[in-house]
Amino acid sequence: MKWNVHRGDITELEVDAIVNAANKSLLGGGGVDGAIHRAAGPELKEACRKLGGAETGEAKLTEGFDLPADYVIHAVGPVYRDGKHGEAEELENCYRNSIEIAKEKGISSIAFPAISTGIYGYPLEEASEIAIRTVYELTKDDDTIDNVLFVAFDDKTESVLSDKLKKIH
Ligand code: ADP
Repeated sequence: MKWNVHRGDITELEVDAIVNAANKSLLGGGGVDGAIHRAAGPELKEACRKLGGAETGEAKLTEGFDLPADYVIHAVGPVYRDGKHGEAEELENCYRNSIEIAKEKGISSIAFPAISTGIYGYPLEEASEIAIRTVYELTKDDDTIDNVLFVAFDDKTESVLSDKLKKIH
């Protein structure tokens, strides 16, 4: 019961932590970021203000405020240019740093959106491959994290993520 693709709205999930596809300001934006800020309420923005932004690939933690999730891990995905500007490594770092924070906090359930595949333009196949491989490798021997959800908001993302997940375990 460790890794599953979940079709739906990440803001509704009752997990210990949801990951946000944030921008460097960490102050909210469009897509899933906007949805998380709306659902969490204004206190989230206040908490984010204190974090002072983040670099691409970094992740930072806040509480979940009005969300059903206890925590939000804000990860800054790369803006995709042509794949030759370190995008893959930066995307991998988002997942790696999010998992690291989750482990430190003793989080047992965590949900990821498809970071960078919306407004930031990362090709879905490649981004999904990185997401699944990185998270799988870092959680397969871990006793703390026992429920990982890869959240898909649309048909295409659901089918690509499901495909990649089937191939890995
Ligand atoms: P980025 O700027 O990192 O590309 P986006 O928010 O534009 O982030 O898109 C990332 C993914 O999150 C896309 O697959 C998008 O469809 C999805 N998404 C948007 N809103 C939600 C939501 N409420 N729950 C889960 N996923 C969402």
